[in-house]
Amino acid sequence: MLAATWTTGAALGITIATIAWRLRALSGAGAVAAALLGTVAVAAGWSWAIVLLAYFVSSSALSRYRLAEKERRLDDLLDKGGRRDAAQVLANGAVFGVAAAAFAAAPSPTWQALGAGALAASAADTWATEIGTLARGAPRSIVTGRRVPVGTSGGITILGLVASVGGAAFVAGLALALGWPQGAAAGALSGGIAGSIGDSLLGATVQCRRHCPQCDVPTERRVHGCGTGTVITGGIRWLDNDGVNALSTATGALTAWLVSYAA
Ligand SMILES: [Zn+2]
Repeated sequence: MLAATWTTGAALGITIATIAWRLRALSGAGAVAAALLGTVAVAAGWSWAIVLLAYFVSSSALSRYRLAEKERRLDDLLDKGGRRDAAQVLANGAVFGVAAAAFAAAPSPTWQALGAGALAASAADTWATEIGTLARGAPRSIVTGRRVPVGTSGGITILGLVASVGGAAFVAGLALALGWPQGAAAGALSGGIAGSIGDSLLGATVQCRRHCPQCDVPTERRVHGCGTGTVITGGIRWLDNDGVNALSTATGALTAWLVSYAA
């Protein structure tokens, strides 16, 4: 690939990541990770950069949509605030980045299917979380069907499920509009939905669960908002929300790849 393309990619990646950092959508380290991702995407081609940017802008906008209401509903259950850090950026973007780098080196529809599937899974999960949190009524565990507190990993709502299909369809439709193979678009739609369901299943079963002994409430934080250290009550110690996100984007990519072959 031409050096000029990489230079243009780096310039654009750094510019957009800096704007996102100034707008408080990304932390400092998150902006560095996003700039790297943007550079690789531009090197793979403009369609890769457009699909990544559309994902990022839509996710950031949805995060801000009725933010105060969501923060009230989530209380301090969740691990992280609105700014995406490096671990979150990489959990959602690493598989897409590897596919983009591979496509830049040796273009093939396989990389497009893997990249679109990974990004569709991230979009499906983000849309489901950001819109589903606003659903009336408590979510239910995808595994037990019992009601769980708003924001609990593995908790699902009808509104969240509809939003996840919307997120997957958004990436799939965009890929199609940008001239990517139909197989990659069909793969993105199914991979996005499979990744999002996988995210909920893993979140309900193996993701590390914590509890604040002081407030007697579940949380994802190591140190609760009240300042008390939390205790692990279940799941795999090292598997946090970012780890589950990384696994679900990989699930989305693999599903998309298989479907692109069948389509
Ligand atoms: Zn507490």
